[in-house]
Amino acid sequence: MGMRSAPYLGGLNPAQRDAVETLQGPVLMLAGAGTGKTKALTTRIVHLMNTGMARPNEILAVTFTNKAAREMKMRVGGMLGEMVEGMPWLGTFHSLCVKILRRHAELVGLKSNFTILDTDDQIRLMKQLIRAEGIDEKRWPPRLLAGMIDGWKNRAWTPEHVTAGEDGFDGKGQKLYAQYQARLITLNAVDFGDLLLHVVMIFQKHDDILRRYQSWFKYILVDEYQDTNVAQYMWLRLLASEHKNICCVGDDDQSIYGWRGAEVGNILRFEKDFEGAKVIRLEQNYRSTPHILGAASGVIAGNTTRLGKTLWTDRTDGEKVRLIGHWDGEEEARWIGEEIENFQRGTRGLDPISLDHMAILVRASHQMRSFEDRFLTIGLPYRVIGGPRFYERLEIRDAMAYFRVAVSPDDGLAFERIVNTPKRGIGDKAQQTINQVARDNGVSLLEASRILVEQGGLSAKARKELGTLVAGFDRWSAALRDETVSHVELAQVILDECGYTAFWQNDKTPEAPGRLENLKELVKALEEFENLQGFLEHVSLIMENDATDATEKVSIMTLHAAKGLEFPVVFLPGWEDGLFPSQRSMDESGQKGVEEERRLAYVGITRAEEHCTISFAANRRVYGQWQSQMPSRFIDELPAKHVEVLTPPGLYGGMGAGNDYSSGLTERVSNADAYASPGWKRMQERTSSRGLSQPKKTSSLVIDAKVVSSFGIGDRVHHSALGFGAVIGVEGDKLSIVFENGGAKKVVASFVTAADD
Ligand code: ATP
Ligand code: MG
Repeated sequence: MGMRSAPYLGGLNPAQRDAVETLQGPVLMLAGAGTGKTKALTTRIVHLMNTGMARPNEILAVTFTNKAAREMKMRVGGMLGEMVEGMPWLGTFHSLCVKILRRHAELVGLKSNFTILDTDDQIRLMKQLIRAEGIDEKRWPPRLLAGMIDGWKNRAWTPEHVTAGEDGFDGKGQKLYAQYQARLITLNAVDFGDLLLHVVMIFQKHDDILRRYQSWFKYILVDEYQDTNVAQYMWLRLLASEHKNICCVGDDDQSIYGWRGAEVGNILRFEKDFEGAKVIRLEQNYRSTPHILGAASGVIAGNTTRLGKTLWTDRTDGEKVRLIGHWDGEEEARWIGEEIENFQRGTRGLDPISLDHMAILVRASHQMRSFEDRFLTIGLPYRVIGGPRFYERLEIRDAMAYFRVAVSPDDGLAFERIVNTPKRGIGDKAQQTINQVARDNGVSLLEASRILVEQGGLSAKARKELGTLVAGFDRWSAALRDETVSHVELAQVILDECGYTAFWQNDKTPEAPGRLENLKELVKALEEFENLQGFLEHVSLIMENDATDATEKVSIMTLHAAKGLEFPVVFLPGWEDGLFPSQRSMDESGQKGVEEERRLAYVGITRAEEHCTISFAANRRVYGQWQSQMPSRFIDELPAKHVEVLTPPGLYGGMGAGNDYSSGLTERVSNADAYASPGWKRMQERTSSRGLSQPKKTSSLVIDAKVVSSFGIGDRVHHSALGFGAVIGVEGDKLSIVFENGGAKKVVASFVTAADD
């Protein structure tokens, strides 16, 4: 009835309309970024309800994040208006499974009010089991086992499925897995992996229940299908096997969760698994300008394992993807801050753009810190999406609590936080005693601890450990007072001596390296302050600023969290080998790791609608040491005709206050000129005058007893095929060169000659 003329269908192209209107049977929408897959999926939900094909609760729609689910709900609601009562089952795999599992909890031995454990609880439980088994937890850290079990759950393996060959835990994994599951049941608890695993098991063992859901969900829709893991895939197949009305949308080029068990094979196998599947390809991109699309396509073309697809846009407008190299990470943050303000004001003849429409997408969360600090300094409102802001992270708060006690020993709140972190056998009972003594004597917790250490009143173990901690704080506070070491060194010493660094080093889970990186980043942040106290004040002011809520904010998030989103203005900083692609992916044998990183680069560029700026720094400071960086290999892969190389700010007289770098942007000078310029040299001088070490000139650098290169950063060179350029990085005998024709390339030193101009 009036369905041909339904207004929501009007804005779709024929392929999208096909996807919306093919309601019977399996449908796979396989298409590149920004082609309107999510839009078509959302419209399909509306269409199902509007045509009366399904009541709202007969539709099951799966999104990748809760944020995406909320947005889809809003759009569906908006399109439907007052027409239909109720909403479909719309959520993430996890949220949908919680709903189902609560109804049938008793079938797996749980009560319907089961709790969902977080990672910390999970690890604590694992630790108990490992200890009970008398296993050496140094060699076999609880987190390693927890990670392995997660992996098994992603594959829908119960303990019985685990074969000896898969058991990397010295053969003990399977038994511990079984014990762990049994413990969870007695605790009336599940972990995240269980949500899917239990439901899949219930479906497999209880045919009557499975049939009920199968006939219930007449229509199933899945967004971001390329990132489903095996357990999720099994869940979908079981549910879809009666009506077979399953519509999945995805893009093999955007599969970025392989490290978490996602199987891009699911999408490639779709036609086999769902007989008679209709595959719909969308080719028109509605999101991005031709240059942005061209740059993204150029990069992803470097992957060998892909289906390959055509993408086009009928837009003709837009500026090129901008590429800029910076002297170091701080300058990159400073420049991006100013650029954001320029976009906000309206610059280069552009209309003003709201901060809500701008995003910075980073590869690693530790990159966020320099942006957060910079934006706080200049008062630029921002939000961090998909994770706590830097100073709110667990490991940062722990570390800061140590610093706080060292600076002000009376800080009882901070002391309480770390007295048993990392765990050192000062349990609840001992902590109660400390509190009691503090209250009775009217002294701080640290002083109360000292009294207990000296006079007894605790278990021998707690007394000994507390003695060590108190002595530590005495030592650190004295070092701080007498300035025997710099506050930066001291911070590192504190973290090392208290056992906190080792705690994360022994931790073999995927998030541990990130936490260690964040701790390094914290110590690095200290360098910008006179002393620890000044730093702590800065952070407490930051935290207070939090409360003031401005309506418009720049978004900062990881590339992973940006999937499915779009912004008119996107900044992609830190495109340097080792950071992006990550060192881990480069160390992996074969191309698999780097190909996943390249898909991440594709996801990043394709988030941009109008303006995309990629940047890299020649130097990053790691542990107070300058480390010279090579531009990312992905930069080499950006097609030159879609890229404009910008002049780095140093050309215009360094980083003095009030410098308007944006003026440099309109001049379109080649990067190579900039690096060979007096401005670049000035930056180098300024850096050395700050007393900081900087990357060595390689002229005297000897590696393996052979001189590797006579070129240094800032040198102007000539390459017979690539023309003139400037050296912006040196690594052994390889030079990173920005060429005047636009591209940045890595070249073996013997292929270039010095150029004097
Ligand atoms: P991704 O792969 O990044 O998730 P996608 O394929 O899901 O992208 P959408 O987010 O659905 O793409 O659409 C991208 C943009 O294009 C959105 O702003 C959407 O509103 C717009 N769009 C989609 N289809 C059309 C159309 N037929 N006409 C005009 N605009 C469209
Ligand atoms: Mg999408």
